[in-house]
Amino acid sequence: MPDVCPYLEYRQLGDETQSGDATDSRPRAYCNAAEEFVQAMRADVCNDRYGLDHEADCEIFREAAGPPEGVEGEGAGGD
Ligand code: SF4
Repeated sequence: MPDVCPYLEYRQLGDETQSGDATDSRPRAYCNAAEEFVQAMRADVCNDRYGLDHEADCEIFREAAGPPEGVEGEGAGGD
C-alpha cells in the first residue's frame, strides 16, 4: 500500500472560486508545506501514485523536511 505525504490534506476550495461549478465543491489536494492547493499532476506525487514517491520526487517535501541527518549543508565545508 502506498504511503501518503504527511503534508497532504484535502480541502474544499470554498469561497476562493466564484464559478459555482459543482466540480469546484469537491475536496482538492492541499499542501500544508507550500500552503497552497496542488496541481493534479503533483497530487499523484503527494499520494505516491504510479510509482512516484513524495520523499524522492517532491522538492517542496524535501525543503520542508530539511536535509537528512549526516548530510552537510551547502557551504558547510568551509573554504
Ligand atoms: S506538494 Fe510535496 S510536500 Fe506538499 S503535500 Fe504534495 S508531496 Fe507533500
